[in-house]
Amino acid sequence: MLSTMQDGPLSLAKLLRHGTKVHAASEVITWTGSEARRETYADLGKHAARLAHALRSLGVTGDQRVGTFMWNNAEHLAAYLAVPAMGAVLHTLNIRLFPEQLTFVANHAEDHVVIVDGTLVPLLAKNLSGMKTVKHVIVANGDASALAAPEGVTVHSYDELLAGQPDEFEWPEIDERSAAAMCYTSGTTGDPKGVVYSHRSIWLHSMQVCMSDSMRLAQEDTALAIVPMFHAMSWGLPYAALMVGASLLMPDRFLQPAPIAALLAAEKPTFAAAVPTIWQGLLAHLDTNPQDISHLREVVVGGSAAPPALMHAFEERYGVPILHAWGMTETSPLGSVARPPASATGEQRWGYRYTQGRFPASVSARLIDDDGQERDWDNEAVGELEVSGPWIAGGYYGGSDGAPSPDPEKFHGGWLRTGDVGKISQDGFLTLTDRAKDVIKSGGEWISSVDLENQVMGHPAVAEAAVVGIPDEKWDERPLVAVVVREGESVTAEQLRDYLADKVAKWQLPENWTFVPEVPKTSVGKFDKKRIRASYSEGKLD
Ligand code: ADP
Repeated sequence: MLSTMQDGPLSLAKLLRHGTKVHAASEVITWTGSEARRETYADLGKHAARLAHALRSLGVTGDQRVGTFMWNNAEHLAAYLAVPAMGAVLHTLNIRLFPEQLTFVANHAEDHVVIVDGTLVPLLAKNLSGMKTVKHVIVANGDASALAAPEGVTVHSYDELLAGQPDEFEWPEIDERSAAAMCYTSGTTGDPKGVVYSHRSIWLHSMQVCMSDSMRLAQEDTALAIVPMFHAMSWGLPYAALMVGASLLMPDRFLQPAPIAALLAAEKPTFAAAVPTIWQGLLAHLDTNPQDISHLREVVVGGSAAPPALMHAFEERYGVPILHAWGMTETSPLGSVARPPASATGEQRWGYRYTQGRFPASVSARLIDDDGQERDWDNEAVGELEVSGPWIAGGYYGGSDGAPSPDPEKFHGGWLRTGDVGKISQDGFLTLTDRAKDVIKSGGEWISSVDLENQVMGHPAVAEAAVVGIPDEKWDERPLVAVVVREGESVTAEQLRDYLADKVAKWQLPENWTFVPEVPKTSVGKFDKKRIRASYSEGKLD
């Protein structure tokens, strides 16, 4: 029997119309280093319309790709809305990719136009001649004449191009299953892989972000989106904010602890999202420059495991709860969120909060062992996490003339193989022990590098600690701990081993320690374990 319900596309055009009309007074606030520029959502709607007209004037039609090479700011948000709502596809270029990766992704996506922030012009300029399909570059917040474009590329000033364009645009009806935005991720091997989000997947994901047991984003919030819009869609905050009318606070390029602290003081956001390293840096800054940050009702930490010591420091010293979440580019990215069951109290409650969290109804999950068998949810059996659902990728972008690439390493039987290893409790809480490639295999047993890191980072003299497996003749692999000592403190390997003695099994106690000024990070601020392993094998770590 068919239902009697109406149907209608869950499109970003509809989201744009809704957010900019119903929540007209909410704002996107962009930090300039010393003060904020403000734009109401009503004005943002007009801004997006002018941008859409400008892009049409450059010949953007159909599902052509428009790249952005930008910080988190109002112009980037306008592109997030205008490009998909006009039917084109937004391609967020990660400014921190290596040059050859950057040109690869622009060519693979066949970007027709790139919108670039003025401060990023020199970086783009180095790569532009390799971007074969780019015909137009639009320079926002900067001087367009500073860019000497290669033959065949026209450079425009964002302000000049948008000036005089109409404030309204007839946003087309769009099939909800068509592509809205794309983002490349590192993948397991070879070139970066393109994940293409649909209007529908973004809509459903945005609803999830706002749900009470998720990030709880609501109209009374001002959300500080530190997680870059060029990485995993800023965890879905831009679209979710438009959906419910939360204001967005955008840090632009000011991502160091001191400016973040300044913008917290000036704008007092209620919510924020970033990877652990950002919070570690802010914590160190606040410890020497105290400031009240209790206006933050909650901050979301994900992208890599949130160290328990960090969660305690924020809550106990600053009154700010950290909410731990797990996800990946392929999962839009929200996969799971660690809100304890109502019945949990005290230590048990903390125990739940350390986990990577519970899956929402739309995300199915299973654990698979080395023999391809499904494992129980008993909080003991460990396996690779696989997920499926309406905002989970089912393949990678296969190029304009190809079907989505099934890539059996990552997708099989309708499931995404996450490459993450962990266990799940009976009540559905995921605890990741590692990425499959980072697990340390010692004497036939597995050591979780994340567990060891969390324990070492619990020592008061330790600012950061990363653990990798290094080859060992007897045991195959043993852990090596790279430690960054907190400023003004000192600690020895011996003292750290003693500290760990009653916290980890004896056979897991690392005998290899190295003290480093900082842990190398990936383009998105995660511990770069590949580089740590390479430095070790090149003899650069002792
Ligand atoms: P990459 O880091 O490979 O560039 P993503 O940004 O998509 O790609 O990262 C996804 C990965 O980040 C996950 O597969 C997982 O390994 C890691 N991750 C994300 N959130 C968490 C978390 N809360 N705890 C541990 N690992 C996490």
